[in-house]
Amino acid sequence: MACIFCRIVAGEIPAEVVARTPEVVAFLDVQPLADGHVLVVPRAHVPAVEDLEPDAADELFREVVRLARPVRDALAAEGTTIGVNNGEATGQTIPHVHVHIVPRWSGDGAGSVHSIFPRKTSRPLDEVGAAIRRAAGDRQGDLGLT
Ligand code: 5GP
Ligand code: ZN
Repeated sequence: MACIFCRIVAGEIPAEVVARTPEVVAFLDVQPLADGHVLVVPRAHVPAVEDLEPDAADELFREVVRLARPVRDALAAEGTTIGVNNGEATGQTIPHVHVHIVPRWSGDGAGSVHSIFPRKTSRPLDEVGAAIRRAAGDRQGDLGLT
């Protein structure tokens, strides 16, 4: 088993585990961006968010929600930045889905999610919206969108 997170899930390599459920394991990032930086991972090896089965997605986000308050409280944080690098081009270094929960304090020197983007767009919103609705297929019919 080559995947580091699969090996942590299996207990083959140590990690500072903070939560375990039948579907999900959460542990501290070994190179934390801040004290209390948690990674929440599905037990099943899934490279990208779009590969998650619906139940696995439910359980993963449920655990993120369940941990958000304890992480904040344990570190006396004022908020958390919650994010996923999804795909190698985004900086994802371990191809096993993981949600970062990073405690935040005002004046901590880190930016918002917006600050990671140079804001480079070239296409109008309506064109992009139509393209995404088309790609998402017939599910959009339920929303009354065409
Ligand atoms: P990514 O850049 O893929 O979104 O984040 C991967 C994260 O995994 C990084 O923040 C990195 O510090 C963390 N990481 C890499 N290897 C290990 C490890 O062996 N144990 C733990 N606990 N975290 C790791
Ligand atoms: Zn894995």
